[in-house]
Amino acid sequence: MNRREVRLRSRPAGWPTAENFELAEVELPELNEGDVLVRNHYLSVDPYMRGRMNDVKSYVPPFVVGKVMEGGAVGEVIGSRSDKVSLGDWVLSMQGWRDAYVAPESQVQVVRREGARMADYLSVLGVTGMTAWVGLNLVDTKAGDRVFISAAAGAVGSIAGQLAKQRGCFVVGSAGSADKVAVLKDELGFDAAFNYHDGDLTAQLAAAAPQGIDVYFDNVGGDHLEAALNAMRARGRVSACGAISRYNDETPRPGPSNLGMVIGKRLTIRGFIVSDHMSEQPAFFSEVGPLLRAKKIVVRETIVSGLERMPEAFLEMLRGGNIGKMLVRLD
Ligand code: NDP
Repeated sequence: MNRREVRLRSRPAGWPTAENFELAEVELPELNEGDVLVRNHYLSVDPYMRGRMNDVKSYVPPFVVGKVMEGGAVGEVIGSRSDKVSLGDWVLSMQGWRDAYVAPESQVQVVRREGARMADYLSVLGVTGMTAWVGLNLVDTKAGDRVFISAAAGAVGSIAGQLAKQRGCFVVGSAGSADKVAVLKDELGFDAAFNYHDGDLTAQLAAAAPQGIDVYFDNVGGDHLEAALNAMRARGRVSACGAISRYNDETPRPGPSNLGMVIGKRLTIRGFIVSDHMSEQPAFFSEVGPLLRAKKIVVRETIVSGLERMPEAFLEMLRGGNIGKMLVRLD
């Protein structure tokens, strides 16, 4: 059986382009004892993949030029020589950027919960939702907190905002278009939202949260972090989740000019990587699963069809072309 995969053709300098990727066809191996054959149905594109395109060692190794990319994927088992994984099971894996694969049973996680769709395992019930949940927990987000979330209409931000609302917080979001701001306010229940292209960030945040903020869930870094530090109340907390405004920089830029406020305001900045928290997954499912079943969380997705459009979906996500989780569907 042949399958198709997307490989890294070359490393980008600055913004990646379609030329940095290539589509290839390969033959699948026979199944050994304990292996499964999986047909992927949904593939994830994520900001951290941009970092892995550079030849830089980080908390995950770089992608290899000429080799298939990796990433989150959910699919259905269509062949099995495993006692633990059966035909028809839905499985999560890191075998993305390809339409099918053969892997040992240890490399897949069987998932299927009442009331959940397959795509949910790459968004609200997957790493995305868990990132939102962990990031809020690490800074002890609780009822009455005034919370600011950047990239709020994206995958992590849209879930973080809704979970904070469920906890009884006042929630402000920033996003890059009027349409996204409308989604935040009208569909996702944010108390206030603004388009960061519309003017000075510090002034817009002060208008949206006149009493200041207690928690900043940072997906963007740079100018957003600077504005959030200005808005922070005493003993405020920053959950440092991502810094997407800097991922395509060719050389590092200086940090916020107002970092000294951390001292006077007694702030805490807490960085995290979600994969360090996988032992908390049962607690995450216990909190978020019932909210999803009760339809207390709105799941937004932007879906692109076809493996060959994987690079396009990835680049569109980096440019802000998504509302909610950007996914590629394989029909
Ligand atoms: P999103 O779905 O939020 O997509 C990225 C969004 O970033 C775009 O839609 C765009 O929205 C916004 N963006 C891009 N450039 C800029 C910019 N210069 N300034 C402001 N916003 C920008 O992606 P995810 O939800 O998957 O990821 C969100 C963040 O969380 C990322 O920083 C990512 O690296 C991080 N992350 C961290 C994890 C961890 O373990 N710490 C795990 C998973 C994600 P807009 O139109 O609003 O600009």
